[in-house]
Amino acid sequence: MECSVCDLRGAVQACSYCHAQICEVCGVTCQRCGKPVCPTHVYKTHSGKMLCLDCQEERKAKRERLRAKAEHDEAADFDETLRPDSHDSGLSEDEALLGSVRKPPPPWKLSLYAGVVGLVAVLVLLVAPGLRQVPLPGGIFLPTPYFLLVIPGAALVWGLIGLLNEEYKEDTARCVAGLVLAVASILLMVVAVATDPSRRAAQEAADAQLVRNKMTPQQLNNWRNEKLERYRQ
Ligand SMILES: [Zn+2]
Ligand SMILES: [Zn+2]
Ligand SMILES: [Zn+2]
Repeated sequence: MECSVCDLRGAVQACSYCHAQICEVCGVTCQRCGKPVCPTHVYKTHSGKMLCLDCQEERKAKRERLRAKAEHDEAADFDETLRPDSHDSGLSEDEALLGSVRKPPPPWKLSLYAGVVGLVAVLVLLVAPGLRQVPLPGGIFLPTPYFLLVIPGAALVWGLIGLLNEEYKEDTARCVAGLVLAVASILLMVVAVATDPSRRAAQEAADAQLVRNKMTPQQLNNWRNEKLERYRQ
């Protein structure tokens, strides 16, 4: 049988699609699956590859899939740069939004912090008695601890809020710790005021003045002479 394409050579095979008889020269073997095809049912790729129609369809579909995947990956990359937090932590967008709204610190935390600060402040006062007085205009000195009482006072309030609030029930121990620190600081501040050396000196001077006021003129005279004697020596 003659080749249906050239009508010159004898046909050696039939096209897989139209079953036309084709010779060795006119026929093409698909370079992918090896099927024989006629010139009508062959597809020549850009790189010069000869493919049957099935292989061309498959190749086209595969290319579409790859392109879609690449576009998807690109989109995913884009998303990742836009929302790194929600992507990394696996949180939903809503959860990420909720997380970004800072919660106020719980009362036990405030109480503990203020308690520690108050305690440190009063310990500094105990170590350095010179800091226990604040000079005010008019020559008045006020005990520093009176001002610093605000700090353990705040610790006390926060600790009580935490204790009395049902919401912080599991933090009771921490609230109590804050309260203990607050009470300790307050007690130590009272001690700091009571043992202030400058205050004691003032008290002694006042006592001496009181004693002198009670003296008779004769006794006062003696006292003065005594002082002068001591000064001369
Ligand atoms: Zn032929
Ligand atoms: Zn054909
Ligand atoms: Zn093929």
